Amino acid sequence: MLFKDIIGHEKVKARLIKSVNEGRISHAQLFLGPEGCGNLPMAIAYAQYISCQNKSETDSCGECASCVKFNKLAHPDLHFVFPVATSADVKEKPVSANYITQWREANLDEPYLSLANWQSKIETGNKQLLISKNESESILKILSLKTYESEYKTMIIWYPERFNIASGNKLLKIIEEPPSKTLFILVAQDSEQIISTILSRTQLVKVGRIKEEVLQNELIKRYRLESSAAHKIAHQSDGNLINAQKLIEHSELEEEFHELFKVWMRSAFKGNVPGLITWSEEIAKISFGREKQKQFLKYGLHLFRESLIKNYGDNGMERIADNEAKFLSNFAPYIHGANCIEIIELFNEASYHVERNANPKILFLDVSLKLTKLLRVEAPIGVE
Ligand SMILES: [Zn+2]
Repeated sequence: MLFKDIIGHEKVKARLIKSVNEGRISHAQLFLGPEGCGNLPMAIAYAQYISCQNKSETDSCGECASCVKFNKLAHPDLHFVFPVATSADVKEKPVSANYITQWREANLDEPYLSLANWQSKIETGNKQLLISKNESESILKILSLKTYESEYKTMIIWYPERFNIASGNKLLKIIEEPPSKTLFILVAQDSEQIISTILSRTQLVKVGRIKEEVLQNELIKRYRLESSAAHKIAHQSDGNLINAQKLIEHSELEEEFHELFKVWMRSAFKGNVPGLITWSEEIAKISFGREKQKQFLKYGLHLFRESLIKNYGDNGMERIADNEAKFLSNFAPYIHGANCIEIIELFNEASYHVERNANPKILFLDVSLKLTKLLRVEAPIGVE
């Protein structure tokens, strides 16, 4: 991990680099910041920089023997500790070493790793992930070995919040008086949840949130977003890349729903039965899935509601996207007092049946045919 690949935090990087070049490496440090801020890649980049044999004043070289191993997260003097649980493959006394392959894969795939993504990567179901007493024993063992290739042996502990007291206490002494040339980096999100005795023995490196404009530029670069969309997501995601990724995924889904909904309404309005049959087959595909069908119906309800607001309410349609506003300018007049209650009921009922495993093809075709009738109900006088 190179410093240049971490989003923002230029001051933190400069401070870390300076401390290395001045030979002031504190042996236990806490890299603190919310999930998705980049404190984990920052810790790795820092360890890589310390170990790099050809570092510049701003970054590791990325090419020396040490960097090549760091690039794969497989340097013999780089150790990781992270929360784990039992799984189908690891049936008892789980420790980080059992999951090191998945750990490397997950981090190389996305260095801004979240605990939830980690949990799904190691397939531990919804068991709580912990750093256990067994782990402390294995940490002590690793640290008793001499370094292989580097001057420093680095141990990065991700989520020290997940130490239980017994395992934390076991480590205290070694954090307080570590073997020489040993560096502990604790990567944490919430200092209040860390055992206070550990906390008091570490030097704080505050990483914090990613600045809004920095995140915005990153989103444009990474996901090719339009500037306005990137701005909106950067603002909503609270300086957290993982939140931003979730929001982007969500908006992609909404776009898919929007296209589907448009085609559906057009066919229903025209009473195009062959079109509606094809459409129902499309949404009934296994790849679409029941959960997504339910979300889609919810999306439809959202557009019906916005239609009514447009017809009867004010113009404050802040909550809808540009493509929806465009669609509603034509569609909204067809949703009104004489049909809205029945349409909303139709969708709520459909959602109920999806949940109870109704045949989706029959169900959506049935809803389509009923919609064809309902959309042709005339609006009461007074609504255009
Ligand atoms: Zn290097």
